[in-house]
Amino acid sequence: MLAVSYFYSMTKKERFAFVLHYFEEHAPNAETELIYDNPYQLLVAVILSAQCTDKRVNMTTPAIFEKYPDVYALSKATFDELFPYIRSISYPNNKTKHLIGMANMVVENFNGEIPATVAELITLPGVGRKTANVITSVVHQQPNMAVDTHVFRVSARIGLTTNAKTPLQTEQQLLQYIPKEKVHIAHHWLILHGRYICVARTPKCGECGLRKVCKYYQQVISKQQ
Ligand code: SF4
Repeated sequence: MLAVSYFYSMTKKERFAFVLHYFEEHAPNAETELIYDNPYQLLVAVILSAQCTDKRVNMTTPAIFEKYPDVYALSKATFDELFPYIRSISYPNNKTKHLIGMANMVVENFNGEIPATVAELITLPGVGRKTANVITSVVHQQPNMAVDTHVFRVSARIGLTTNAKTPLQTEQQLLQYIPKEKVHIAHHWLILHGRYICVARTPKCGECGLRKVCKYYQQVISKQQ
């Protein structure tokens, strides 16, 4: 009962502060689970990870990176050469085309350097706002929040966002409250929480340290108990 009344009296700012402090204590070194050594490899991995698990991508990328060690090598690949490496990943046709197109554009327009801004990155084939936000936040610690299905769901359940209907609305609401210097790691906190605790079908609320401030838990789960 005490926890429920605490929930209803707290402001959104206080809820954000609680959540960020919790993750700072429990996951101070959160980072992407994609395996990469440089921005080129991360960009390839993130393009491949759309609608696909990081685990599956990590099984696939070592062979790609060995055969195509940089963007110049990848830009010379043909569809038929690259496709077999990507066959086991979701949407292999599109992703094969996107990787080759991306590599060619990086070579032609950016002197072979993976761009460091969202505006430039989204000009590349296969790179949308989410991917560009991931690259700029992971590689350059820019305060850009990539909203995937986990970030979208977890933010809504906890009550960090209110009636957000699109990833962009979620991104904008999160950025209002998360201090700039914490945005890049907060992205990983929310993704990993969604992947392992606040899972889509049946969230593991019993294992979750955010129950006290979580809107979904206080308004739905605690009433069922
Ligand atoms: S209490 Fe449950 S619904 Fe809320 S964040 Fe934790 S796991 Fe998700």
